[in-house]
Amino acid sequence: MRSAAAAKCRIVTFHGVGAPQRVLDPGESDYWVPVDRFRHLLGRIASHPSRERVYITFDDGNISDVLVGAPEIQLRGLTAEFFVLTGRVGLPGSLGAEDILALMRMGMRVGSHGVAHRDWSRLSARELDYELNASKGMLEDICGSPVRSASIPFGRYNGAVLSALRKAGYTTVYSSDGGPFYNSPFLRPRTSIRRDATDGAIERILSGEMPAWRWLRRTIRMAITARF
Ligand SMILES: [Zn+2]
Repeated sequence: MRSAAAAKCRIVTFHGVGAPQRVLDPGESDYWVPVDRFRHLLGRIASHPSRERVYITFDDGNISDVLVGAPEIQLRGLTAEFFVLTGRVGLPGSLGAEDILALMRMGMRVGSHGVAHRDWSRLSARELDYELNASKGMLEDICGSPVRSASIPFGRYNGAVLSALRKAGYTTVYSSDGGPFYNSPFLRPRTSIRRDATDGAIERILSGEMPAWRWLRRTIRMAITARF
């Protein structure tokens, strides 16, 4: 049984805010949220009774992280963690090294999303090591401090991916399995916010609601996926 003191946490993930300044991959625009909608969602988070247990992350290192995301978050007294693709650092539409430092100065945290946004579950051991170590090394050079968290591209992982992450020195890893979680596990599920998410759907995410059958199904799926 869970201890009564165990805190139920939930993590929301944003990708881009406003108009993209680079060519998007197929399906990616579903996760770009208009600025007004983004402000509305942050307002919901900031005023939510569970605010202390809601964590915010951003994936892909889009330039909107520093232009809109972090400033709006800071304005509301919130904080967030930004997962950067080091292969895109400095490219048009993506964060540059100075932007990453600016995020840190705004009190935000920075983690790795790999180098080239590849599906880690399909890489050879060598390719995977490169994604995990090269991105970590580059971010540590930029930030001047250790980087120990990663978010998994496309949310796709297996046992080999999790082992390689541990071996590379990561201590916290974020998936896209959805729903809340308890305590501080190595692998943490997150829920990606789509541009068409309704207020009702957002409320369920922020409240950490998950029917028992879905919780069970997710737990089994995560355990099985992590083994192979
Ligand atoms: Zn991504």
